[in-house]
Amino acid sequence: MCGISGIYSHNPVASELYESVVHQQHRGQDAAGIMTYDERMHKHKGLGLARDVFTEDNISLLKGNVGISHNRYPTHGEFGHGEIQPMWTSVPYGISMAHNGQITNYDELVEEVTKKEKRYLNTTSDTEVLLHILAKELDNNGVPNTSEEFFNHLCEAVGTIFKKVKGAYSVTGIVIGKGLIVFRDPRGIRPLVRGERDTNGKKDYIFASENTMFYSLGYEPTGNVLPGELIYIDNDGEMFSKRLVKEEFNPCIFEYVYFARPDAVLNDVGVYRSRLRMGQNLAYAWKEKYPDVKPDIVIPAPSTANTSALAFAHEIGVRYSEGLYKNHFIGRTFIMTGQEERRRSVRHKLVPQETEIRDKKVMIVDDSIVRGNTSREIVRMVKDAGAKEVYFVSACPPVQHPCYYGVDMPTRNELIASSKSIDTIKKDLGVDILLYQEIDDLVEAVTRRGDHHIDNPCMACLDGHYVINGRKVHELIKE
Ligand code: SF4
Repeated sequence: MCGISGIYSHNPVASELYESVVHQQHRGQDAAGIMTYDERMHKHKGLGLARDVFTEDNISLLKGNVGISHNRYPTHGEFGHGEIQPMWTSVPYGISMAHNGQITNYDELVEEVTKKEKRYLNTTSDTEVLLHILAKELDNNGVPNTSEEFFNHLCEAVGTIFKKVKGAYSVTGIVIGKGLIVFRDPRGIRPLVRGERDTNGKKDYIFASENTMFYSLGYEPTGNVLPGELIYIDNDGEMFSKRLVKEEFNPCIFEYVYFARPDAVLNDVGVYRSRLRMGQNLAYAWKEKYPDVKPDIVIPAPSTANTSALAFAHEIGVRYSEGLYKNHFIGRTFIMTGQEERRRSVRHKLVPQETEIRDKKVMIVDDSIVRGNTSREIVRMVKDAGAKEVYFVSACPPVQHPCYYGVDMPTRNELIASSKSIDTIKKDLGVDILLYQEIDDLVEAVTRRGDHHIDNPCMACLDGHYVINGRKVHELIKE
């Protein structure tokens, strides 16, 4: 999971791209980068949070009215400076790219790029491979005289990518002397939203993983980049767009469960509202299964679960309490690397409020249980603070399979629900009752309202059905 953005404006874009990186910080904390161009490419990238990477001085050197940005959270490739995006190549034109997702046929494409095309790859990042495929396809065409001709070249190049490249990829890019390009894989697995702003009668455009920065930058949301769509904005601000392929639309359901900021609207579904509905559906299930068990308080495992916990508490008629205080200056545990690192960080960032917990029957609502380490620690903390009984509900069904589309769930062994029964997990976490959301209830919560066009959300990590080519997990793992 990463965060990307791309801006075409009639004013310099560097500070707005910085704001985009800040507003998408939750999507990746390993590294951040910005690339802009006027007559040439300008870039600044670094490891760490946006506030550590960028300064007023280095932002002032990022000249130009067109640019892209990236928040990195590694799912493919090593961890190091060379892997930080945006990446770029000088032939043809000078192309730079920021990518959110993960390519599943990486090895096959590396073979083609390095052996057949004799191109050098300097990293193990799948983004670099994607960049070289785009470069090669654009290089195959002649020199375009007009924006229309260049757009036709892009259509051919990106059309080839859609045929060749398997997996999830939402992409923003810049081409020197040509403008901004944006495309999204045919299944639309990772999000990519768009917005517009009027500047003295001229249009500025923004594209990003989430619309979380639109409000502060004054952009109006104008929907989504469609799955299989290519958009090109030329140097004069003229927009060209075409949906090159139409397949089943399978956006990632985990964006709604965990990744996206609650104020984001992705694929025309509000994340906040979908989380309220997750809490509501979970409460209905609780009341049906445990009509006689009523907790004294409902506390969220902060902070993604806050919204679901609020709706859950309301629905079962029990007081909502912030029984665990969260220190917001420590990174999200799920996207910290290393299990021990994650375990230790839970106690650094969460502090139980004893007055809220002691001698009470406590219901903990969490967004999901992935590895189980965070949940186990939270339960231990709540018990240590004097809880009489502890119940645990998860707004997401059991996560049983790894994700190959851009989320760090690399092996089945790491997922607590992949090999353990719910009863064993209950004992492992040390809770009196454990209840998971049903898959149908989760889908209902995400798709209940709104004029969205989601065919089937990707839920491969929950049901093992991998949406690319409709293959099952064992077939994909064999590759
Ligand atoms: Fe999202 Fe899970 Fe699908 Fe990965 S496998 S894209 S996390 S729903």
